[in-house]
This record gives sequence, C-alpha cells and structure tokens, in this order.
Amino acid sequence: MASQRIRDITQRKKPLTIEIRVLRKWISKGKKEELCYLFVDIHGDAIEATAEVQDIEHFDSVIKLESCYKVDGFICCGPRTYMATVNHPASLVLGQKAKFHPVTNPNIPTLYFNFATYETIKTRIKDAKLLTDYIGRVLKNCMRSTSNGKQLRKTRLQDEMGKELEITLWPEKSHLIGEEVTTGDIVDITSTMVTEYNGLLQLESTYLTTVTVNTDLPQTADHVERLKALPLMQSSGMHDKTVTLLDLKLNSQHNFQGSRNFTCKAFIKQIQEDRSWYYVICSKCSRKLYQQEDDDGALYYVCKNDDDISPDFRYSVNATIADATGSADAIFFNESMQALLNISCKDMVTRHADKACPKALPDLLKSAIGTTKLLHVALKNDGKIVVNNVSEITSTTSNESTSHTQGTSTFTPTTPIPKPATSKRQLEDSPGS
Ligand SMILES: [Zn+2]
Repeated sequence: MASQRIRDITQRKKPLTIEIRVLRKWISKGKKEELCYLFVDIHGDAIEATAEVQDIEHFDSVIKLESCYKVDGFICCGPRTYMATVNHPASLVLGQKAKFHPVTNPNIPTLYFNFATYETIKTRIKDAKLLTDYIGRVLKNCMRSTSNGKQLRKTRLQDEMGKELEITLWPEKSHLIGEEVTTGDIVDITSTMVTEYNGLLQLESTYLTTVTVNTDLPQTADHVERLKALPLMQSSGMHDKTVTLLDLKLNSQHNFQGSRNFTCKAFIKQIQEDRSWYYVICSKCSRKLYQQEDDDGALYYVCKNDDDISPDFRYSVNATIADATGSADAIFFNESMQALLNISCKDMVTRHADKACPKALPDLLKSAIGTTKLLHVALKNDGKIVVNNVSEITSTTSNESTSHTQGTSTFTPTTPIPKPATSKRQLEDSPGS
C-alpha cells in the first residue's frame, strides 16, 4: 500500500495512507466546535485532523491517544483557521470512511514541537490563527496575584539569541511550571497565544498549552545545546517601572542603597568615540588580557595567570541616550548591546572592526544609534545608568506604559482566552509535564 509523508499532504490532494501517532485530542473552540486530533509521523512532521463532535463515540472507539495507526480514507482540505496548533498548509477531515489500522512503531515521536523564534512571534501578536510553541531557558519563575485575586504563574525565558520573553500561565495551567523550576532550567511550552503586556510581547497559556521541563528528546537537543551555551544573564526585570529619562534624573537625586531597576523608552543619540567600545577578558579567569606580538609582528592575547586561553570579547559602550524629556549618559554592557545589534561582540570585533584601528567604532555598531527601544536600566547610587538589556517596543504599545506617576505594581492582565465550556473533553497535558 503506497504511503506518504505528512509534509507532502496538500489541500484537495487524493489521500494516500499515512502512518502516524495520535498525540492530542481536543474539542476546538470558535465559531463551530470540532473534534480535533494532532497526528505526527516518523519524520516528526505534524498535521491536524478534524471530525464532527457528534461522532466522538465512534472515534473514541477506534482511536487511542498516543497509539500508532495506518490511516486512509480521509480527505485533505485547508488548514484550520482558528487556534491551529501546527503550521501546515492542509488538515485532514475524518468521516465514516476514515480507517484506522493499529500498528506498532516506537520510532514515531511521542511529542511534537514547532518552536517559533522571537522574530516570528512579533508577527503573531493577537492573531489567533496559529498557536505558538516556544523553548527557552528560565531566568525567573514566580507566582503573581491579579487585582481580582487570581494566581498566575509568570516565567521569564531567554531564547537562543538571548532575547527575553515572559510567559503567563493562567490559573488552570499555572501548575504546569512548578515552584521548583528555577533559573537555568529549559522549558518547552506549546500552544500559547502571543499578546502584549505593558508594551512587551508575552506568551499566554491557552486551554491547549502543555509544558515540559528539561526534556532530553532528540527534537529539542540542538535547541537545548544552544541555550546552555548562552551566558546566564540577569533577568532585566520586564515589569520594572517604565519611566522617562527626566524621572530617572529626579530619582537619582534621592538617596538609596545599591541600584534600582527601571525601563525607559529611549534611543541612543550618540556613542562616545573617544572611549573603547569593548574589552577582552580571559576565558579561564575572566581577568583582563594583554596583547603580545609574535615573531611575525601579529598580535595575540595573553593572560597573566593562564596558558591555552581564548579571548572573551565583551561590549562596553558609553553612549548618550535620549527621549522626549531629555538625555543622559549610559553604559551598555554585553547583553544589552548584543540584544540591540543581534551580533556578538566577538563577531563585531573580528568581522566588522577596522583591523588597523580596532578601537574605532565599526559602522555596524553605529547603526544602533537612533532607534527607540525599551531599555532595561539599573540606576546606580552614584547616578550612573547601566543598560542591562534591550527589547522591542511593540507597535501597539500604549502610552499608558510610559506613565511616570507613582503607580502601583498591581498586575492587571489582558483579557484571557475564553475558557472552553466542555473542560472534561480538554486535552490532557502531555506526558512528563
Ligand atoms: Zn586567565
């Protein structure tokens, strides 16, 4: 019997047999309730299948969750257009002619992920067509109360590019990330909605969301490796108060200990060209490196303590930042500059700096000037401003978030996804979550 791959299925195509595992089952919400399934094949590709809700008894008798089948007799049509869990140009329609022949195939994956990047997420804001899967490393994990007493789980993740994103798990899903999940853990989350809170992108749980923590699945191995290789940064504090630069100046006149965190919508007006824009430290002891010349006059780095080291390049950019209320001097360290430019300091030095004059500002670095971003800053008690991270301002950012009145920190969430009426038919959380 001829069979085909899930990824080759197109709308209106005459169906060939597929060999799949049934990963999920749920009743869809929206204009019309449908019985939905998620199938995955041996190649790890997934597709949704739908049937009529009144046929649920029939399908419950022939389809067991997590089991494998050879399936034929379905119809290939267009994708579902509301809260689809996979990005596939087709979906399957199951009727009385659809036949499920049980098979045993341990090589078909038991989980399915289609991780979105930070860049794709921006295009999905408040668009309920397609749900979003995401993987990241935990920066911070805590519970928060809403103004009406609901307990939400807030987990801040860092993605493979070092970008920071917050996940909000609504009460019915807040148990999916436990209190024991901590900084450095890797979280895979599925079927979330991209929304915004306080001018920042976030992912909200939906009734279909599942979570796995620190899995060692082959599908996630590459992601996990890249995430573990990232320098562990301090959370930039996405819910720090958003203030103007004038507010910052006023704040710096008050006495306080240590440093305080804020966010500002501001842009780099100027980079001080007379100051070095990076420094180089030892990969082993993190101390300053020195340059030496080899016999041919080529320069290389040495450490006073260690041999066999590699130079670790770090941004340290002195700049003037500005907004409508004024300007201030600030220093951008490694994480914030990398987030702003999407390029590591090492690549900036080795690919874009003038070889003859490495301290001169590369043109690419100057491209950081002029674009307004959300700057996550720490105000030191000597009045210095350190920019710890930079994130995008979403297009729909409201002016409320720039309010510099003494607001409370009460969390007021955006409107939740409507809860399904038939919760007993909800998909069970995936194994291991
Ligand atoms: Zn060293």
